[in-house]
Amino acid sequence: MTTLHDLENASEFVPRHIGPDADDQQRMLATVGARSLDDLMTQVVPASIARAKPMQLPAAVPEAQALAELKAIAGQNKLLKSFIGQGYYANHLPGVIQRNILENPAWYTAYTPYQAEISQGRMEALVNFQTLVTDLTGMDIANASMLDEATAAAEAMTLALRSVKSKAKRFIVAGDAHPQTLAVIETRAEPLGIEVLVANSKAEWDAALAGEFFAALIQYPASSGWVQDWSADVAAIHAKQAAAIFATDLLALTLLTPPGEWGADIVVGNSQRLGLPMGAGGPHAAFMACRDAFKRSLPGRLVGVSVDVHGKPAYRLALQTREQHIRREKATSNICTAQVLPAVLASMYAVYHGPQGLTRIAQRVARLTAILSAGLAQLGFEARHHATAFDTLCLKTDAQTAPIAQRAVERGANLRTAWNDYLCISLDETTTRADVQLLWQVFAADGQALPDFAALEASAPDLIPAGLRRSSAFLTHPVFNTHHSETAMLRYIRSLSDKDLALDRSMIPLGSCTMKLNATSEMIPVTWPEFGGVHPFAPADQQRGYQLLDAQLRQWLCQATGYAGVSLQPNAGSQGEYAGLLAIRAYHRAKGQAQRDVCLIPQSAHGTNPASAQMAGLQVVVTKCDEQGNVDLADLKAKCEQHSDRLACVMITYPSTHGVFEAQVKELCALVHQHGGRVYVDGANMNAQVGLAAPGEFGGDVSHLNLHKTFCIPHGGGGPGVGPVCVVSDLLPYLPGHLPGTLAEHAGLDKAHGVGAISAAPLGNASVLPISWMYMRMMGADGLKQATELAILNANYISVALQSHYPTLYASAAQDGQPGRVAHECILDLRGFKDTSGVMAEDVAKRLIDYGFHAPTLSFPVANTLMVEPTESEPLAEMDRFIAAMVAIRGEIARIEAGEWPQDDNPLKNAPHTAPSLLAGDWTHPYSREEAAALSQLQPGQLKYWSPVGRVDNVYGDRNLFCSCVPLSEFAND
Ligand SMILES: *Cc1c(COP(=O)(O)O)cnc(C)c1O
Repeated sequence: MTTLHDLENASEFVPRHIGPDADDQQRMLATVGARSLDDLMTQVVPASIARAKPMQLPAAVPEAQALAELKAIAGQNKLLKSFIGQGYYANHLPGVIQRNILENPAWYTAYTPYQAEISQGRMEALVNFQTLVTDLTGMDIANASMLDEATAAAEAMTLALRSVKSKAKRFIVAGDAHPQTLAVIETRAEPLGIEVLVANSKAEWDAALAGEFFAALIQYPASSGWVQDWSADVAAIHAKQAAAIFATDLLALTLLTPPGEWGADIVVGNSQRLGLPMGAGGPHAAFMACRDAFKRSLPGRLVGVSVDVHGKPAYRLALQTREQHIRREKATSNICTAQVLPAVLASMYAVYHGPQGLTRIAQRVARLTAILSAGLAQLGFEARHHATAFDTLCLKTDAQTAPIAQRAVERGANLRTAWNDYLCISLDETTTRADVQLLWQVFAADGQALPDFAALEASAPDLIPAGLRRSSAFLTHPVFNTHHSETAMLRYIRSLSDKDLALDRSMIPLGSCTMKLNATSEMIPVTWPEFGGVHPFAPADQQRGYQLLDAQLRQWLCQATGYAGVSLQPNAGSQGEYAGLLAIRAYHRAKGQAQRDVCLIPQSAHGTNPASAQMAGLQVVVTKCDEQGNVDLADLKAKCEQHSDRLACVMITYPSTHGVFEAQVKELCALVHQHGGRVYVDGANMNAQVGLAAPGEFGGDVSHLNLHKTFCIPHGGGGPGVGPVCVVSDLLPYLPGHLPGTLAEHAGLDKAHGVGAISAAPLGNASVLPISWMYMRMMGADGLKQATELAILNANYISVALQSHYPTLYASAAQDGQPGRVAHECILDLRGFKDTSGVMAEDVAKRLIDYGFHAPTLSFPVANTLMVEPTESEPLAEMDRFIAAMVAIRGEIARIEAGEWPQDDNPLKNAPHTAPSLLAGDWTHPYSREEAAALSQLQPGQLKYWSPVGRVDNVYGDRNLFCSCVPLSEFAND
């Protein structure tokens, strides 16, 4: 009989997360020819790497209980009103945007828009973002987001280094920049041999500009709040053949002269205050804009307007798409996952408020700042750091500094302490008259009369100098001037998401990207104010909830990976790689082995690997792969010997990028160790290992994880991500640090003994960490292991089911009459069709759209193949639907091969088919309209997905680069 105990402890969430149930699993095991899951695992996972002991994790709990536990943790954060500023501001995310984008899986479960045709909605939103940035900064072109303002500033530094004529290696920073920006710049500069010169006074600045340098960075408005005309400085910088870089604030630029009008070369910043919660530092969309001359080496992704086969305008990723995969160690940057969802949110905030609404918010902030300032002067605080301001005042408070800051906290407000004897106050969209009066109370001495708000309202002088007031128009495009009623806004958001395919409609079978379930319970805490309302530089004792979350998640990830320590600071996989390589570099230096600078990378590696190695100051040496796609151990051995005394590390991906568990990985690690090198294991493929194998046990020294792949953070259409860096014990001292007094220091890492700051915020994209916490809490050790097993079963099922139609390129050697095995993904080989039918993998990818599917990964890591990763979350019925679509497409290829359809006019070459193209009066193709629409494949009652555009012309778009809003009717002939 079932006991109450059993009833209470039945695993509720695990079978919701995992697609196939027990019966399905039996059917699939029969198809793949394995007796049981255990049997299959023994065939797939080499015994030499199997985990010695299971993960020690708390037992799984149901969704409601996990939410209750997390709520209690969140409740330990103290929510004070933040006047800290320093790049992070409270604001109001309009409800229509919160519910219909941030909380809507149609937006957050989408993949990066590599398949342009099914991504038109989110790319339109990203073009709006790019237009928002170019218009407000006054620049020629802007990208579709950066990871955070500090890394954007660091990327601007290297963009300038590549682009300017000056041969100097000195970078000047005006001292009144955000301290976290300076910290990240210093981290980035050191391995590249760039000297960072910080100018802390006017005299130092003038002296610096008189010397040689390749670029200078100015924060405008400055970190302490002042604003001034920098046009003469820009001219002085240009006279040195150097680049002028500004870090700025989009809200301020609705009122201030934009840096582009002074001739700035690069402008960066954060769009956080346009509707994104502070979230202890992220995720937010930073941005980068530049002059036209720099656009071809602009890092990050760029959405451009092109045309489709019908000559209609269509969006697609321009130029830099997957550029790391092409240029590798010569790539302009390692950024892959960026901040698409936050960029979409910020763009919608601008669409909804429009130019007048944004200006009104900015004017209110500026006016309240002016009134606050006048009142503080009456209270005796006249010694402002600077006379001009937009939203931030900085007051010399000397011995009063600590007592006033303390009084503020007692009244529920956080001020920023700067340079020990100043207090800074930043106002924002949420600031009210009552807040200004509260601040006066905080600064007033006992018994001192408080200023009269009404009197100051009338008399307080503006703090923005007349000469700095913006005169140019911005956001004039209709999209920013139409959707101002909530009804119109709701429909605009809906019309865009209806164009796109995300996980809420169908499987996204992307190899190397793990598009698994993002459970709603995992997402709910993301919009809790207890997480969203925390400023990243609020005192640590107000962030106890985040401390607990950080500590628990790090401990669990150590269990999952077998490593001794983790830092959650890197805010994408690429940043985790960079942090890990810096740790290895710092380790060798500390051991007196600074000459170790060679990083061996197999040719099959993900493109971010060589790009990150280059940024970490390492020299990339590429090693070969054998016919099976495995690392060629003989070549690796030869290169280890050749570079023995200079060997810093080898960077491998496990299971390999080819989707196979390489049996000799332990030997490989031992070999590298013999030569004094360290082993970096790219852990983006942990979905094939959690619970079965642990890189920290089988020989890895460092790994990064992608929480936005294996640990359920949704892809967001291309970010946010979290890329924790994990290390063995002797590398612990080299994890990223951060500014003093922040959570990083609390976790035992400060700048003194870390490698410096990697991200703007100590916990990176802190406010999405609850997603991974929820996942691990609801799955437990058993559930996580099962998830891995099912990910492997599902991949082998698809591989076997499609074997006679599309052979799997790489698999382990077949044994006892069983088919060869893959790990969690399989590469379908389509290379033969080119000769027999002219069909390329891309045609199959586009044809899948007609069948209602997002394509698998196209031509990576092998050209003209499709890499399929079903993940554990896909139900068997959906996998069968995918298999049926692939088989049907194979049948279509056969008809081309048989000569029934010409090679240049068939359903594959013409895919995807739009509805209007099928309604055209005279249908001239040799196949029917029904065949074009793949109607026979629709399940009873299934709604047909129609591609909003025909196949997009990439070449046209790169030749005619256009990256901001255009009236589409004018762009191309309809
Ligand atoms: C996704 C991925 C990366 C890069 O991660 P981002 O978060 O996109 O920067 C690195 N390596 C591998 C193998 C990956 O699959």
